[in-house]
Amino acid sequence: MSEKFIIAHTPQEAAQAKSGENAYLAGGTEAMRLGSEFACDSYVSLRKTEALREVKRTSGKLEIGASCTFQELIDIEDIPAYLKEALHFMASRTRRNMATIGGNVAVCRDDSFLVPTLLAATASVSLMNKDGATEEISLEGYIAGRDKYKGCLILSINLPDGVSVKSARSANTAQSHARLTAALGKKDGRYLAYAAIKNYGLVKLGGIAEKMSTADHLSEDEITDYLKNDAKIALKDDLLYGGADYRKYLLGITFAQMYQELKG
Ligand SMILES: Cc1cc2nc3c(=O)[nH]c(=O)nc-3n(C[C@H](O)[C@H](O)[C@H](O)COP(=O)(O)OP(=O)(O)OC[C@H]3O[C@@H](n4cnc5c(N)ncnc54)[C@H](O)[C@@H]3O)c2cc1C
Repeated sequence: MSEKFIIAHTPQEAAQAKSGENAYLAGGTEAMRLGSEFACDSYVSLRKTEALREVKRTSGKLEIGASCTFQELIDIEDIPAYLKEALHFMASRTRRNMATIGGNVAVCRDDSFLVPTLLAATASVSLMNKDGATEEISLEGYIAGRDKYKGCLILSINLPDGVSVKSARSANTAQSHARLTAALGKKDGRYLAYAAIKNYGLVKLGGIAEKMSTADHLSEDEITDYLKNDAKIALKDDLLYGGADYRKYLLGITFAQMYQELKG
C-alpha cells in the first residue's frame, strides 16, 4: 500500500517531486504488480499530467506523449502500423487500457513488448530532469545510460519518419511471457536488428544487421547459420523458455522471416 501519493499536474511538478524514495506512477501495471522490483512506498502520479498524453507531428517525426496508453495509441490513426503491431503484443485489453508507452520504456524488461520495435525504429526519447531542463537522446543511449537517467521524467517517445519495421513475438500463449521479442528496422537502406530474450536480456544484433545492409540478398539458411554461430549470444538452456540451440534457431528464423518481409 502506498504511503505517500503526489499528483502532478505538469511535467515540471512531476520531475521536481521525484526523489530517490518514490517512483512515477503512470498506468501502474508494473509498479503495482505484486513482487515488482519497481514497487515503492510513495508515488508521483502522472495520471493528471495532461501534457504527457499528447501525440504531435513535428518536422520529420511523431512525438508520442509518454503517458499515452497502449490502447489509446492503437486507436490513433497517425500511429504507424508497425507500432500498433507491437502494441497488440499486450494481449489483455484491460491492461492495454492502463499500461503506457513511457512505462514500458522505463521498465525495459527482457520480454519487453515495445522496446525492440522502438529501437529498430531508431526512436529517441525526450527527458526532463529535476531542474526542469529537457534533452532529447536516442532510445539506445537512454537504455545504455539508465543509471544516469534514473529519475528523469520521460516526456515523449519520438519516432522519425521514413523507417520500416517488422516485429515478432514468440510465447506459449498470447498471455504468456515471451521467450523472444524481435524487431528488424530499415532506414536509408540500412538494417537495424534488436531482440529481447527472456532470462538473457536485450541485445543489439549488429553483425547480422551489417550483413543484411551490405549483401544483395541473404537466404534463410545464411541468416539462421550466422545467428546460430554468433558467439556473442551465449544463451543457456532454460527449463521454461527452451534449450539454447532451439532459442538460437528461433532467433534465426524470426529474423529471416522479418528480412523477407522487409525486402518485399
Ligand atoms: C500480468 C502482467 C504481465 C506483464 N507482462 C509484461 C510483458 O510481457 N512485457 C512487458 O514489457 N511488460 C509486462 N508487464 C509490465 C507492464 O504491464 C508494462 O511494462 C507496462 O507498459 C508498464 O507501463 P505502466 O504505465 O503501467 O508503468 P507503471 O507501472 O506506472 O510504472 C513502471 C515504472 O516505470 C516508471 N515510469 C512510468 N512512466 C514514466 C515516465 N513517463 N518517465 C519515467 N519513468 C516512468 C515508473 O517510475 C515505474 O518505476 C506485465 C504486467 C503484468 C501485471
